[in-house]
Amino acid sequence: MCMKYEKGSRYALEDVSFTIDRGEFAFFVGSSGAGKSTLMKLIIRELRPTDGSLKIFGRDVTRLPRRRLPYLRRNIGMVFQDFRLMEDRSAFDNVAFAMMVTGSSRKEIRKRVPHVLGLVGLQDKFNVRVCDLSGGEQQRVGLARAIANSPAMIIADEPTGNLDPGTTLDIMNLLRSINLRGTTVLIATHNREIVDRFKKRVIYLENGRLVGDEQKGIYTHVH
Ligand code: ADP
Repeated sequence: MCMKYEKGSRYALEDVSFTIDRGEFAFFVGSSGAGKSTLMKLIIRELRPTDGSLKIFGRDVTRLPRRRLPYLRRNIGMVFQDFRLMEDRSAFDNVAFAMMVTGSSRKEIRKRVPHVLGLVGLQDKFNVRVCDLSGGEQQRVGLARAIANSPAMIIADEPTGNLDPGTTLDIMNLLRSINLRGTTVLIATHNREIVDRFKKRVIYLENGRLVGDEQKGIYTHVH
């Protein structure tokens, strides 16, 4: 697949080709501008490839009609570097809102939100406003929100970019435990320590090209 933002400009992604199996855990690494965010935007169909195809859950999403987008996006949980939470609302409300917009009933929400907040270790913080939580706790809310609708896949774009090393490890361990429950997890990161420690699949991007793809990879790609 290829992706160009504007006609005549250089490719943001060029001849990128890979397959991720259901239930996999993979890191995308590469320096700033390598194309990681572009790739994530293509997966959620915020962008369309200029050429080639992109299949998600077995369907080519490049031609997916607009009315099918909510179904695709409900099946993909997003986690962001800057959390993107409603800061003046409680942890509970933030997760509940994500379920409300996808049409869950009040009853489902009342049952599911405490469950997912418990999974990320926030059982004692349901009613605390996000702005009164630490950075690590805020990202736990972000994870709870991402898994609230039981998505098949989680995409995390630099999920620990704003966190200290100890908290980073906690969040990454949570992502790993989410993966162990069967959810596919894709993480774009610059975090060398984490990538080296986890020994998972690593897909290397450089200037818009896929230059390596290693099972049990380490951060530094050896050409
Ligand atoms: P990364 O996430 O690895 O830092 P990006 O996917 O953000 O990389 O960027 C890949 C390339 O695409 C870069 O050359 C960047 O300048 C370009 N790019 C990203 N977003 C846009 C945009 N909205 N319009 C034009 N070019 C963009």
